[in-house]
Amino acid sequence: MLFKDITIINEDFTTTRNVCVGIREGKIAHIGGFTEGFGEEFDGRGYLLAPAFCSAHSHTAMTLLRGMGSDLPLDRWLNEAIFPEEAKLTPKAIYNGTLAGCAEMLKYGTVSCNDMYFMGKAMADAYIDAKIKANISVAVLCFDDSAFIDMPKYNECLMLEEYLKDNDKVRLDYAVHAEYTNTPKSAATVAEFAASRNAGLHIHVSETKSEHEDCISRHGMTPVKFFFRAGGFDTRTIAAHCVWCTDEDYSLMGEKGVFMASCPTSNLKLGSGIPDYKRALERNVQVCIGTDGVASNNNLNMVKEAKLMALLTKGYNLDPSLCKSRDALIAATRTAWLSQGRQNSGLIKVGYDADLAVYDINTVNTKKARDGVDTLIYACDGEAYMTLCNGEVLYKNGEYYTIDIEKLEFEIT
Ligand SMILES: [Zn+2]
Repeated sequence: MLFKDITIINEDFTTTRNVCVGIREGKIAHIGGFTEGFGEEFDGRGYLLAPAFCSAHSHTAMTLLRGMGSDLPLDRWLNEAIFPEEAKLTPKAIYNGTLAGCAEMLKYGTVSCNDMYFMGKAMADAYIDAKIKANISVAVLCFDDSAFIDMPKYNECLMLEEYLKDNDKVRLDYAVHAEYTNTPKSAATVAEFAASRNAGLHIHVSETKSEHEDCISRHGMTPVKFFFRAGGFDTRTIAAHCVWCTDEDYSLMGEKGVFMASCPTSNLKLGSGIPDYKRALERNVQVCIGTDGVASNNNLNMVKEAKLMALLTKGYNLDPSLCKSRDALIAATRTAWLSQGRQNSGLIKVGYDADLAVYDINTVNTKKARDGVDTLIYACDGEAYMTLCNGEVLYKNGEYYTIDIEKLEFEIT
């Protein structure tokens, strides 16, 4: 496939107009002038070609719980609204909910996510059928003296590891739900196992003030220190939220290469606080952006998250020069892809996976915009015209090629 005369976001996140981009065997094979031999041609005039988004923190099957428990504080939202509903979910529901999330992600130009949930086989099957990418993990919650090896989830993970061993698109990471739902032993043994598998560890960290302070009362240390002591940062770590981290926490995360998967809409909607991107970035934390589950968002629109990151940073620090649209886009694309250990995604660069999204920028709300990245982050509504994973068009102009939307809607209503 060849995109002709399209505006592209370069690998340094500047934009160039009237470029031709050729895709071959799932990879970006050409960037430059017109050339033949790529088969189907797409007239890119009026369109923007961008790296596809990767949501760094999600619970995708929560599409089934959209908006549930709205306006409750996090502890009541979890215990009164979410946990009882989740207890009723069957593998089929998890599959359908995840598939519905895949459809929504494709609509918003997203082709991968770090999905922490449960019933991993049903999660994996939805991504496999939708043909998008994901790093999935099943969340460990443990209040007794068990080590990971004693838990049913250990056997589930071994089964998933075998099931996904030849699958590069869907990868298995490991998850400790949070400090407040685990013991030091469960956290340490899951972290050790993740490191032994060279896999990622996905955790919730300092999402709310009370979570952060309760951890200090319980363990005499912050959640970041709790996970550090448990060996949690000895592997690629995705720490969701990190709203209440101290300067020392951020410094430690920066030193250890921890990814902070921030979810600004969810933090605002649940009244958890305002993520302090400036402080985190100053301490070399690898900040990336995610949507969280739709029960606290209530959709999977990554443009909205990136825009919020930029606006919150400027407004919170009274400085419009901070967090440029380009910085927010990098957090929502390249850094998020790196949080999955996928070095070959998140940039429009020859040899990289063709994980791409195309946006119509010839609309009433985007016309006359000067810069492609600014247009995408501030003016677009986030809906992609076309979304590709490994060079394969999975969504175009409202149509899905791997998901039977009518059947899915019938099954989830
Ligand atoms: Zn979460």
